[in-house]
Amino acid sequence: MEQAYQTYSLLNEEVKRWQDERGSFWMEELSPAETPPYYPLVDFPEMVVLELWKRLNRVIGVLVSESVLRGTWNEFKADQPVSDPELLSCLQIALSGIAHLSRARIMETKKDMFNAQLQDSDEAESTGCPICGEDAAFSVLTPPNGKRCLHCTLCGHEWPTTRVGCIRCGREEASEQNYLNSVEFPGIEVVACEACGQYFKELDLRLLSVADYIWEDVRTLPLNYAAEQWLVEHAKVSGKVQ
Ligand SMILES: [Zn+2]
Ligand SMILES: [Zn+2]
Repeated sequence: MEQAYQTYSLLNEEVKRWQDERGSFWMEELSPAETPPYYPLVDFPEMVVLELWKRLNRVIGVLVSESVLRGTWNEFKADQPVSDPELLSCLQIALSGIAHLSRARIMETKKDMFNAQLQDSDEAESTGCPICGEDAAFSVLTPPNGKRCLHCTLCGHEWPTTRVGCIRCGREEASEQNYLNSVEFPGIEVVACEACGQYFKELDLRLLSVADYIWEDVRTLPLNYAAEQWLVEHAKVSGKVQ
């Protein structure tokens, strides 16, 4: 865990350096769509993906030719599995670094619209990120009054959602969801949904501050096991097959 964290931190530092050096140049090159999702990752320019990906690969000593990277990027976009785990994690971190840039660019031009949306108590219907189109990873309860939002780990965007319910399938009946928590992880609950057999974490940002959501997810893996266990046992009791 310690080792994994060190590697992860090194890669993130490289992303920050790249953003400082190259961010303003690439921000100009990115061309978001007019309607959401404004910038799905499949539309990221290949040049920007390869540039950052290569830098990250270099940090952990993965040396791969440009043509292999290009091929792998096309496979990834076509939803094909990437077999090299190191190459894949560098790609994912690179994509997130680019998505954060594209989000900053989109927020610049559409700031008023997003602010109005955040204030509006009628929440958005979709669980897909309006910026990058990825499914929300977490729900978060935001200060000061615990307004519930969805959080996208790819681009870092947050947008309002319904006050209760499963963020995977949209069911709102409280009896369908079971909240599990642990004293070890204050401010985090894992919500297991009986209706769809999936689970997700809900973070109360009034009780904890999160510097890095991806790492927060890894750090709280015991909650995933608890949710999986609950879903297995519950499926047994109710005779459902997952
Ligand atoms: Zn996003
Ligand atoms: Zn569900």
